[in-house]
Amino acid sequence: MNSPIRQSANPSIRKAIVIGSGVAGLAVAIRMAVKGYSVKVFERNAEPGGKLSFFEQDGYAFDAGPSLFTQPSNIEDLFECAGEPIADYFQYRSVPVACKYFFEDGTIVNAYTQVDQFARELESALGEDPVAVQKYLAKAEKAYEAIGRIFLDHSLHRRSTWLNKRILPALSATRISYLIQSMHDYHASNFRSPKTVQIFDRFATYNGSNPYKAPAMLSMIPHLEQNEGTFYPYGGMISITNALYKLALKKGVEFVFNTKVDKIIHQQGEVKAVRVGDMEFRADLVVSNMDVYYLYRDLLGDPSKAEAVLKRERSSSAMIFYWGIKKEFKELHLHNIFFTRDYEEEFRHLFETRQMYHDPTIYVNITSKMEQGHSAPGTENWFVMLNAPADIGQNWDQIRQKARASAIEKLSRILSTDIASLIDTERVLDPKGIEAQTLSHMGSLYGTSSNSKWAAFLRHPNFSSSIKGLYFTGGSVHPGGGIPLCLKSAKIVASMID
Ligand SMILES: Cc1cc2nc3c(=O)[nH]c(=O)nc-3n(C[C@H](O)[C@H](O)[C@H](O)COP(=O)(O)OP(=O)(O)OC[C@H]3O[C@@H](n4cnc5c(N)ncnc54)[C@H](O)[C@@H]3O)c2cc1C
Repeated sequence: MNSPIRQSANPSIRKAIVIGSGVAGLAVAIRMAVKGYSVKVFERNAEPGGKLSFFEQDGYAFDAGPSLFTQPSNIEDLFECAGEPIADYFQYRSVPVACKYFFEDGTIVNAYTQVDQFARELESALGEDPVAVQKYLAKAEKAYEAIGRIFLDHSLHRRSTWLNKRILPALSATRISYLIQSMHDYHASNFRSPKTVQIFDRFATYNGSNPYKAPAMLSMIPHLEQNEGTFYPYGGMISITNALYKLALKKGVEFVFNTKVDKIIHQQGEVKAVRVGDMEFRADLVVSNMDVYYLYRDLLGDPSKAEAVLKRERSSSAMIFYWGIKKEFKELHLHNIFFTRDYEEEFRHLFETRQMYHDPTIYVNITSKMEQGHSAPGTENWFVMLNAPADIGQNWDQIRQKARASAIEKLSRILSTDIASLIDTERVLDPKGIEAQTLSHMGSLYGTSSNSKWAAFLRHPNFSSSIKGLYFTGGSVHPGGGIPLCLKSAKIVASMID
């Protein structure tokens, strides 16, 4: 095919093409522009942000995807690298209660982000040993500082990482129990109350994993929320997308929306261009922010590499009900969890039978608690999320109806209010919808799960070893999904391009 190749007006300026404008695509585009590249981002959707998106319906505003914001330092670092004052683009504040937990027996726990206060709360509500809580969180911090900072901030596939002077302290901090014990068993050996165990087990879902299978190494995740704290961006989570998009434009990044990249053109082991419809766009390097499975299957036409990606178990997905609620619930916070009676059985359903459990854990996020404009006075915008298995062709229409009924029954019972009669407006997103919106294979939220002890080390690298000039960023590659890690992956890619 003789496609017209678009040449740069000035061929001496190096050209970078980014495929996808998820949070990592935006961040890598900014970093490449700062390095002096001419950067063009192709995005198949009409707007930037990928999963980090937003909509309004009948006077209610909803952040459609992520709702929890941790480690703002990743965003601050991006603005610092771009030499722009962050306050002109993005502002946030800390939230003193990370989450309010509701148990079926009426127990309520406020997860304060002040460690001593949280330890005292667990003692008074659950009879937990406060010293055990403090010790656990201190160990989580130590593990994060020693292990996380080297393995999450650097490529695992570059010799320089393994020669870094931080590697020895990291390896010596890696207790054998972090690898051989499951996260759940580790928590059970740390705490006396099964409810404390359940609260800390929940952090496995932050990368779509199963605490009964994932290694105890994941116990460093609570450090981010309980030690470093949780935050709320003014304007909601969509402010992250908006700030990064505005910064990218300021740095001269060019965006082409409603445009899907169809192929990556490479010759003699080197990236040359991308193909969009019948046009080819020359590139000195290409950074893929799309799911690495589809990249191999469709853009590189390499089904065997695509199949190899699937050898790693996909992360869980979600069923989300966006409800405009005609009432204010003073007893609810920004983040609320209504736990299942049987967590182990819920995870067995998610990862083994691949169905949703009839008594699901329900997460309710209400940004109108923080933001007046997100719903009218006397009403609330509920983002109601249930863990769901990755899509393997289940009957989602049927599952959606059952999940909705279970959620309404459970919330009505625990809040002693008929929730169904309060639903003013509704939208639903299931794993198939998540896949359709962002091309995330099987609708998984975080790429691959961490359900095996080596999973963190087996994520796809941030570069191609067979095609020079091809790089990977975002939730489906190292170091994994979630906003903080996606931003780190963009920084890793940029550091490789030096
Ligand atoms: C419901 C939900 C709740 C979540 N909750 C949280 C949370 O509370 N906290 C948190 O930190 N994380 C959360 N996450 C995870 C987080 O949203 C993701 O890990 C992160 O946003 C993924 O970003 P990404 O850069 O990998 O790109 P994505 O957001 O996956 O975007 C990829 C982009 O690439 C585009 N694209 C794909 N193929 C092509 C192509 N061929 N050509 C052009 N464009 C293409 C897509 O259209 C998309 O816009 C949640 C995710 C979901 C869905």
